[in-house]
Amino acid sequence: MKRQDPSVSLEQRDKLYEGKAKIVYATSDRNMVIQYFKDDATAFNALKKGTIVGKGVVNNRMSATLFSRLAKAGVPTHYIRTLSDREMLCRRLDIIKIETIVRNVVAGSLAKRTGLEEGTPIRQPIVELYLKSDPLGDPMINEDHVRMLSLATPVELAWMKRMALKINAVLRPHLLKRDLVLVDFKLEFGRGAGRKLYLGDEISPDTCRLWDRATREKLDKDRFRRDLGGVEDAYQEVYRRLVGEPTGA
Ligand code: UDP
Repeated sequence: MKRQDPSVSLEQRDKLYEGKAKIVYATSDRNMVIQYFKDDATAFNALKKGTIVGKGVVNNRMSATLFSRLAKAGVPTHYIRTLSDREMLCRRLDIIKIETIVRNVVAGSLAKRTGLEEGTPIRQPIVELYLKSDPLGDPMINEDHVRMLSLATPVELAWMKRMALKINAVLRPHLLKRDLVLVDFKLEFGRGAGRKLYLGDEISPDTCRLWDRATREKLDKDRFRRDLGGVEDAYQEVYRRLVGEPTGA
């Protein structure tokens, strides 16, 4: 598949990587890639598979909106610009194999691990680290494991943790103004040109837990994971609150 971007005559090249929800293509600029957002959904380390119609459009547009908001607040992100409903031009990163999770409210694996009830507020946001590894099922790791596995330097890890809390401090009030409680979310960071660190991946209902402020209704991928129904409607509702314009889905 080839495409021309008229504004900078950027050409789409080979597929570099196909993941569960996105495809990454090389471009004629070696420092830039195109992220293509699919409607495919997986959960429980790909044991559950399905399609969420319109998800790719929502995740692409929502990520672009939030990356732009973060850039204004001084967070370096890989986002360059939106190319289409499902395509985003990004800096090419060497992704660090750590999933950084920030939590404001107990949910999911934290509820299971601690026995605390889902919905319990966390007074001071917490940051957790997981090894990004499908074959191992993304196990939780600590800073000593990061050093042992040479996943990131101590300086990089300190920056990632500081940035994760800053991102939370920017996104939490931004979302709350739109009646969305940011319960928890997953971040991925990577090294760009000159090993400079950037926030990568996406910020979407696939990677965040978002609850309606008044009703506590789940408006995220948990509707898919837990067979709650109304999955597409939830994604569209989040999109409406954050981006505003209709997706056409
Ligand atoms: N998350 C993610 N990808 C993963 C694991 C988790 O995007 O591979 C997100 C998830 O959507 C939630 C947060 O990270 O917003 C915390 O997930 P948790 O550890 O509770 O795991 P889960 O219960 O979702 O398996």
